[in-house]
Order: sequence, then C-alpha cells, then structure tokens
Amino acid sequence: MAPLEEQRAFFAPPVVSRIAMISVHTSPLAQPGSGEAGGMNVYIRELSRNLAHRGVEVDIFTRRADPEQPPVVEADYGVRVFALEAGPLAPIPKDQIFCHLPEFVTELAFQISRNGHPYELIHAHYWLSGWAGYLLKRYWDIPLVQMFHTLGDLKNLLSPRGSIEPVLRLQVERGLLRLADAVIAANPDEREVMIWDLQADPAKICTVPPGVDLDHFRPADRHAARDQLGLPDRPLVLFVGRIDPVKGIDTLFEGWRRLLDSLEPGDTVPLLIFLGGRRTESAAGPQFEPALERVIGEARRLGIEGSILFLGSQPRAILPLFYNAADLCVMPSRYESFGLVAVEAMACGTPVVASRVGGLRFTVEDEVSGLLVPPDDPVALAAAIRRALADHRLRTRMQVGARQAAVRYSWHGVTNAVLQVYQQVAQRRELLPCP
Ligand code: UDP
Repeated sequence: MAPLEEQRAFFAPPVVSRIAMISVHTSPLAQPGSGEAGGMNVYIRELSRNLAHRGVEVDIFTRRADPEQPPVVEADYGVRVFALEAGPLAPIPKDQIFCHLPEFVTELAFQISRNGHPYELIHAHYWLSGWAGYLLKRYWDIPLVQMFHTLGDLKNLLSPRGSIEPVLRLQVERGLLRLADAVIAANPDEREVMIWDLQADPAKICTVPPGVDLDHFRPADRHAARDQLGLPDRPLVLFVGRIDPVKGIDTLFEGWRRLLDSLEPGDTVPLLIFLGGRRTESAAGPQFEPALERVIGEARRLGIEGSILFLGSQPRAILPLFYNAADLCVMPSRYESFGLVAVEAMACGTPVVASRVGGLRFTVEDEVSGLLVPPDDPVALAAAIRRALADHRLRTRMQVGARQAAVRYSWHGVTNAVLQVYQQVAQRRELLPCP
C-alpha cells in the first residue's frame, strides 16, 4: 500500500483527498523572519504537512520570483510547491501583484490540465490569493476556503497614519467574505470584526487558531542551550520577528533603554537577542540588509547597541535552542493576528511578555504563561521585563503555565478543526456553530 493510502486507512478517511493551497505573494519555502516571510509561510507549510499525514495531498501554488526557483519542489511527503510564472522573475512589492493574478490563474489552470487531476477544494491565504482562488473556484466549480492572515480594515484601524491600505484590498476582502464558501479567522476578535464591521455572514466564519509543533518546540536545559549557541550565562531576553512597524521594535528599544537606565550599580546587564532581518557573514565581518542596518542604527542612537545581539533570522531547526536559552521572550507588537512566536516560546516553557492585542490576548494568559502590557507603552514593557527577570518564583510558575497553555495549540487539534471546515464546505453544509 502506498504511504498516503496507509495514512487514509489509519485515520477515518478525509472527505477531500486533494487540495490546492494558494500563496501568491510569498513562498512557504522562504526563510521566515526576513523580507515578508513570517507566520503565514510557516502556517501554510505546517498545515500542509499535517494534512498530508492525514492522507490529503496538497499542492501549494506561489508566484515565481526568482529564475533560480525550481518550478516544482516536493517540500514534504505529499506536499508539492509549484512556482508559477506571472509577472517579473524578481521580487515585486505586494501592491504590484494584483495585475498579475489573471496570468497566475491561467498558468495554474494549465498546470492542472497538464496533470489532468482535479482538486476538490481551494484554500487561499491573504487577499491576493483569495482573489486568484475565487477565479479558480468559478472555473472548477469547487469550494473556496479563505484565510486573510491580516485584514486591511484592521491594519488601517491600527495605523497611526490612518488609511494606508489600498481601497482595492478593502474591496476584495469584503467581496471574498461574501464569495468564499468558508472563512477561517485566526482569533475570535477577527471573527467579530468580520461579522460586525464588515457585515459577513456568521455561519461562514469559523475561528481556528494556527498550531505549534510540540515535538520540535519543547522544553530543554537552559544552560545546555546557551552552551550550544555560545551565549553567555546572564539574563537573556529574546525577540523573534520580521522587521515591520507592526512588531513594535521601536517600543522594544525604548523600553530596553529605560530598563538599562533603571539598573543599580552591580546589577547584571541583561542581553537582548534579536532574531530577524538578513545577516550574512563575510571576510570583512557580518553584513546586514538595509532594513536591519536601520534597526541597528536606531539602537546605536539610543545607546543600547552594546546590550543587543543582532543575529539575523535563524532557521526553524535551531529556533528551539534560542527559546530554551532565553529567560523571557518579548512580543511588543501593535497587532498580531495570532503571534506564532509567542506560542513557540511557550511550547519551550519560556514565558512571554507581550502586548495585549489580537491573538496574543487569547494565547498568553496574564500572570500564568506570561505578562500582558498595553501596546506602544515602553514604560509598561520595561517594568514587565524587569519584574519577570527579577522574580524567580513568578518566572518558574509562568514556565510551567506556558508549556501547559501551548499544548492547546497542537497541530493535531488544529488539523482536525480545519478538516472539519473542509468537510462541511465540500458537502455544502453550513459550518458548525463557532466560538
Ligand atoms: N521565524 C523564524 N526565524 C526567524 C524569525 C522568525 O523561523 O529568525 C518564524 C517564527 O518561528 C514564526 C514565524 O517566523 O513561526 C513568525 O510568525 P508570527 O506569527 O510570530 O509573526 P508574523 O510573521 O506572522 O507577523
């Protein structure tokens, strides 16, 4: 028996056996933490892998943005990634991708006709892919499941500069809320926004949070992790994320400056480990991409550069070592749809100091698995980090609480919930009531 069929025999057979995932603007194979690659890339890759384990074949379609990118890669068992030519073979800004969607869809439809094997369902990520997914839904007459990852309306609401997202995006998102067969929201607040602000039909929208790989991200000895990474034995605080205004790096640095200013003579100076942006090693020393260079320049301007290690983005394989080496993980974001980093840290038993926003309000429990602070508040952030570093008993309690909370986000449960959505739309039934 072929392995996929064995999987199908082990679990109750899923109603769909072959799906098309669409991620036009970013490849699930890109290194998360640099450029635009982040949680969405990780989510697509992990969900696809877990679906394949349940016997669902997954083909992921992305725009080819580099001549070196192979047209098709078997990313995991049962998961293929197709890079389709649509527009220049070079990275282009997201706001220039919409006009290439018809080309993308035509190419995709041809790929499929070459393979001659139809899909039963489309799962699209982000509004651009949603639009491509809708055109394909019409062409193939199969259901479309949509995830926005971020909503343009929410971004506008949170932006200090007012409306920054193109009207086209807002229109397409509202359209997709009507046209998709089901929409998966990453947290209950986003579902509320879709229903109350964007007038979406509640029966179509389900909240399913992303998952975390609990075997990969698990507690390990702190000192051994530090030794392996060559990190010093002193209070370590970890930041992991893309360089984007939404991540609150400015708040983090201002808070870090205040924290350092508040140290008494003789106190050990903590070290902030910054994972994100592109750093390459050369004979002349480390080279930083311009965005990371700007972040380092800001730290220099604040006089805190000496207490921060800028290591660039790191592969997922070694991330658990960083989470385990750290005393605390910080996530001072202005918004997070979910905030995978917080849950990965928690899965390693590392408490999180996070902003009380979006998905973080649901994943991090204040005083139990971490500390929640208002966004954009460096004073509160510095106080929370100081308290968590100084109070050993609190930290020990939160370490236990963190791992216990993370267990709720196992991929096993998340895959079940996503499969249930697929099953209901494939059978054209209403979704079960959602929280
Ligand atoms: N990430 C990574 N290496 C890095 C930085 C980030 O693999 O150096 C991963 C991180 O582990 C997480 C994802 O990128 O899985 C970021 O997801 P999150 O939801 O926290 O933020 P987003 O990028 O979606 O805003």
